[in-house]
Amino acid sequence: MLSSEGMQLQTALFFETPEQIFARVHREIRPQTAVPEVRIGFRRYANANSRIRLKDSVLEVVIADVLQGAPAPIMEALAWILISKLYRRATPAAFEHRYRLYLNRRDVRRELHLLRQIRGRKYISGPQGQTYNLEEVFEELNQRFFHGLMGRPLLSWSRGASRSLLGHFDPSHNAIVLSLILDRPEVPRLAVEYVMYHEMLHLRFPVEHSGARRCVHTAEFKKAEREFPGLKEAKEALKHL
Ligand SMILES: [Zn+2]
Repeated sequence: MLSSEGMQLQTALFFETPEQIFARVHREIRPQTAVPEVRIGFRRYANANSRIRLKDSVLEVVIADVLQGAPAPIMEALAWILISKLYRRATPAAFEHRYRLYLNRRDVRRELHLLRQIRGRKYISGPQGQTYNLEEVFEELNQRFFHGLMGRPLLSWSRGASRSLLGHFDPSHNAIVLSLILDRPEVPRLAVEYVMYHEMLHLRFPVEHSGARRCVHTAEFKKAEREFPGLKEAKEALKHL
């Protein structure tokens, strides 16, 4: 059964421009406030980020062009997210969920992945550091834990010496990046190996997507990580950086 109310909603959504959607959502969130003029621009970004601000009673919205062709219900969800943020209110969970679900769609993820490759520029230092050579570390672990079968991605030290982000795997550039803070003689090799091993497991166990959820460290990932000999000592050493 399809109620007439539901039909009306569908029809309204179908014919609304993004500007009209934002104006309507604004009216719903701020019924007492006059609806500002809405100006929407699409920009070429390497991600799906969007921005909103209210300036001289004009609601200025900048949306990543990856969302330009998104269906009206997604634009509506984005309007709820951005306007709620503007007025420091919590976004209703249903809209948050609808938006996440869309970004998690296989075709949308693939497009974002391509955009990051093309538009996002990546700093790659190369594997040789002052103290450690990442290629050596990688190949040694490859032999010990992966029968030497893991294809070598780009290996790089990070530009800054971050303490909070010790390593990451960037699937868009197929690169493992370790924090420069690890490239010091006082950092035991075991600690560097552990961070590299963790990132290699990200290559081995890709991120799982189900619905709006995204699981980075799956159960099998965690199980494999526990098999690293010297895990405790490595973690201990990393605490003292
Ligand atoms: Zn991780």
